[in-house]
Amino acid sequence: MKKIAVLTSGGDAPGMNAAVRAVVRTAIYNGLEVYGVYQGYKGLVENNIKKLEVGDVGGIINRGGTILYSARLPEFADPKVRQIAIKNLEKLGIDGLVVIGGDGSYRGAMELSNEMSIKTIGIPGTIDNDICCTDFTIGFDTALNTIVDAIDKVRDTASSHERAFIIEVMGRNAGDLALLAGIAGGSESLLIPEKREDISDIVSRIKAGEKRGKKHSIIVLAEGVMGGQVLAAQLKELTGEEIRCTILGHIQRGGTPSAMDRVLASRFGNYAVQLLLAEKSGRAVGIQNNRLVSTRFEDVFSNTHEVDLTIYDVSKQLSI
Ligand code: ADP
Repeated sequence: MKKIAVLTSGGDAPGMNAAVRAVVRTAIYNGLEVYGVYQGYKGLVENNIKKLEVGDVGGIINRGGTILYSARLPEFADPKVRQIAIKNLEKLGIDGLVVIGGDGSYRGAMELSNEMSIKTIGIPGTIDNDICCTDFTIGFDTALNTIVDAIDKVRDTASSHERAFIIEVMGRNAGDLALLAGIAGGSESLLIPEKREDISDIVSRIKAGEKRGKKHSIIVLAEGVMGGQVLAAQLKELTGEEIRCTILGHIQRGGTPSAMDRVLASRFGNYAVQLLLAEKSGRAVGIQNNRLVSTRFEDVFSNTHEVDLTIYDVSKQLSI
């Protein structure tokens, strides 16, 4: 192993820069040359690849987004397009590739690793925490804290106006963000894709809260369940009350990475390069019980990420 490349792909996540920094510095520390691929797989196909030095990743550990930029390139599912990318890497004499991204980026990385001799390692970077075989992904903790901060702010208005508020958060298939934000934000109701709740239960909870003098109700909703405005209209119909909805949207993706995300990203980046140095390939790094692990891409895809429903039960008991 002499030369490696690193790219960020798919949805950006706070902490991706810390991971890039860790990859670059670990590589140089171990005597490797390291190249940055700009705009993810698009840059790989368009040969937008530049050598990086220690100083190029200075002052980025605290920055959200990704200095390598990200892009979506649906055409990368076509083997002919991937061949162009592989040729570009071969021309530069790259023997290892680190892909930082989510589920889609992993699919691209798995295809590449099956089609080329260049060793490939994935690092989970997505705020959704929806990747299997790792307890946490880079960006999840930061996004969670952003949501909880927003819930605290909305709660002030909710209690001043004695209203119920819906806060719609990201999570099309995985309810992790909503679940943990719901607990940390002390929400009265929690709706996640993995656990369907009858709307009449939410109505009874709002009513019961009012009866015992509660000034407000916070409902945290994962976007994968339904749209926040739709739920607000349904609840208004059933309760006869004005229900407001706040959709947090892309605010959840940005911002300074939390200390936990910086540490996780630094460990993942370092470990990814260690795996390449050990000639490992076709694997994704992860953390399980605070230990670094790596899992074959095939196994990541043949298992499904599961939210911890015991936490859901805790939230039910605490939101009486
Ligand atoms: P994320 O990595 O955050 O899940 P996407 O799903 O948009 O984001 O995937 C990022 C990129 O990975 C896509 O734009 C595409 O270039 C590549 N990709 C996604 N799915 C595949 C696939 N099945 N085969 C090859 N490449 C893929």
